[in-house]
Amino acid sequence: MGHAVVVGGSVGGLLAARALSDRFERVTVLDRDRFPEVAAARRGVPQSRQAHVLLAKGAAALGEMFPGFAAEMVTSGVPVGDAHADCRWYLDGYAMRQAPSSMQCYGVSRPLLEHLVRRRVRALPDVEIIDGAEVTGLLHDGPARGSRGRVLGVRVRQDGADREIEADLVVDAGGRGTRMPVWLRELGYGEVPSSTVRTGLVYTSRHYRYVPGGDDFAVVMAPYPGMPRAAVIVRQDGDRVVLLLAGMLGAEPPVDDAGVRAYAESMPGPEIRDFLRTAEPIDEPVRMRYPSSVRHHYERMPRRPAGFVAVGDALCSFNPIYGQGITVAALEARLLADEPGRYFERAARLLANPWSLATGSDLRFPEVKGQRRMVDRLLHGYLARFRVAAARDAALGAAFLRVSNMLAGPAHLLAPHIALRVLRGARRIPVSRGGNPPAEVDLSGSSRI
Ligand SMILES: Cc1cc2nc3c(=O)[nH]c(=O)nc-3n(C[C@H](O)[C@H](O)[C@H](O)COP(=O)(O)OP(=O)(O)OC[C@H]3O[C@@H](n4cnc5c(N)ncnc54)[C@H](O)[C@@H]3O)c2cc1C
Repeated sequence: MGHAVVVGGSVGGLLAARALSDRFERVTVLDRDRFPEVAAARRGVPQSRQAHVLLAKGAAALGEMFPGFAAEMVTSGVPVGDAHADCRWYLDGYAMRQAPSSMQCYGVSRPLLEHLVRRRVRALPDVEIIDGAEVTGLLHDGPARGSRGRVLGVRVRQDGADREIEADLVVDAGGRGTRMPVWLRELGYGEVPSSTVRTGLVYTSRHYRYVPGGDDFAVVMAPYPGMPRAAVIVRQDGDRVVLLLAGMLGAEPPVDDAGVRAYAESMPGPEIRDFLRTAEPIDEPVRMRYPSSVRHHYERMPRRPAGFVAVGDALCSFNPIYGQGITVAALEARLLADEPGRYFERAARLLANPWSLATGSDLRFPEVKGQRRMVDRLLHGYLARFRVAAARDAALGAAFLRVSNMLAGPAHLLAPHIALRVLRGARRIPVSRGGNPPAEVDLSGSSRI
C-alpha cells in the first residue's frame, strides 16, 4: 500500500522504515544531516558522542527485525558480557550481588549501532534514504477545525531548492527537537499535550583504551536521593572503554582530570577510581545537557490529522540514564509493522511502563517536581528495601535486571516470591554501602527515598 515518508534517519527513523517496508510499496527516509560512510558521530545526533547502552529487550527486537544482528555486532568488534555476572551494579550505593544469567549485554557505541542499522535498511529494496534533505513543513488537506484533516506529505529543502513529496503516511522520527507539534499547531490542531519531568541532567563521556585482563564488563553506579551523581564504565567496540559521568539537579560532572578523579572518589565503590589510575584516554571528554524528559500525548488530542504518526524521541524522550530510548523506538516500530489504526493509543500503552519506571525513579528525588501519590511513597519505601536486599540476594538482582532491561514489567518486582525475599533479605542487616565499612541501615521508611 502506497508510500511512507519518514522524517529523520537516525535509529528511530531507520527502525520505523524497516517495519513499514513490510506494509508499504515504498518508504522514503529524509534526514537533514549528511550520513558518514563509516561509524561516526554526527551533528544531527549530538548524543551520539555520549555513552549508550542497548537493553536486552532492544537487542532482541533488533534481532527480530534484522536476523543475525547480534552476530553482526560481534564481528564488528562489539564486546559481549553477561549482564549480571560481568557487570557490577551499585543501587542506592549498595553493590548488587552478581550471578550468572542468560541476559547478554553488548558494548555497542551509538555511532556503530546506527551505522549497522543504516546498512541493513539501505539493503532493503523498497527503502530510499535521502540525506541532506530537511523537512520544513507538512502538506495537509481538509479542515483542521471541525472534522479531521489529513497529512498528505512533506515539504523538503535540499541543495537550496524546495520541493514537495507526497505520502500516504508521514512518520515523525525527528528526535527530541522535532518541529511537528509546532506545525500541527500552525495547522489549527491546537497544542499537543505533553508531560515533562525536569532533572537537569548533565552527561560527560570520554573513551579510554581497553586493556585486557580486568574482569568487569561494566560498572554502573546509579544515582540516588542524596547522591545525584552517577558514574559508569562500559567496554565498547574499537577496543575502548567509555567512562560516563552524570550529574543531576545541579551536580555538574567535571571534564578536567583532577575533577574527574575527585568525582570518581566520591562514588560508592572503588572500581572507577581504580580504573582511572592507569586508564589511557583516547579522546577529549564531551559534555551534554539534558534538562528534562518529555512525552508528547498525541493520544489525548481531541483531533489530530490522519496519515501521521511519531516514533522514538519525537514521541517520548526519556531520562537517558535508564538507557530506554533505542529499545522503545524498536518496540514502536513493531507497532507500525502491525495493522494501522489507533497507533498513538497503542504506543501510549507501550510507553506507560518505561515512562513510569524512569520518571518513578526520578521522583524519588525530593527536588524533582511532579505528582507523588501515597502509593508511590509506599513503593519507594519497598524499592529502597529491595536495593539493600539485592546486595545479598542474587535473585533480586536478576529481577531488577529483567525489569530494567524491559524483559518484564515493573510489577515483576512486586511478585509475591520477590516481595518475600525482599522482606527476608532486608531484615538481614548490617549491609555495607559501597566500599564503606558495614553500617546499620535505616529502613524506617522514607528517610533515604
Ligand atoms: C545523552 C543521551 C544518552 C542516551 N543514552 C541512551 C542509552 O544509553 N540507551 C538508549 O537506548 N538510548 C539512549 N538515548 C536515547 C537515544 O539516543 C535515542 O532514543 C535514539 O537516538 C533514537 O532517537 P531518534 O531516532 O528518535 O532521534 P535522534 O537520534 O535524535 O535523531 C533525530 C534525527 O532526525 C533528523 N531530523 C530532525 N529534524 C529533521 C528535519 N526537519 N528534517 C530532516 N531530518 C530531521 C536529525 O538529523 C536526526 O538524524 C540517549 C539520549 C541522550 C540525549
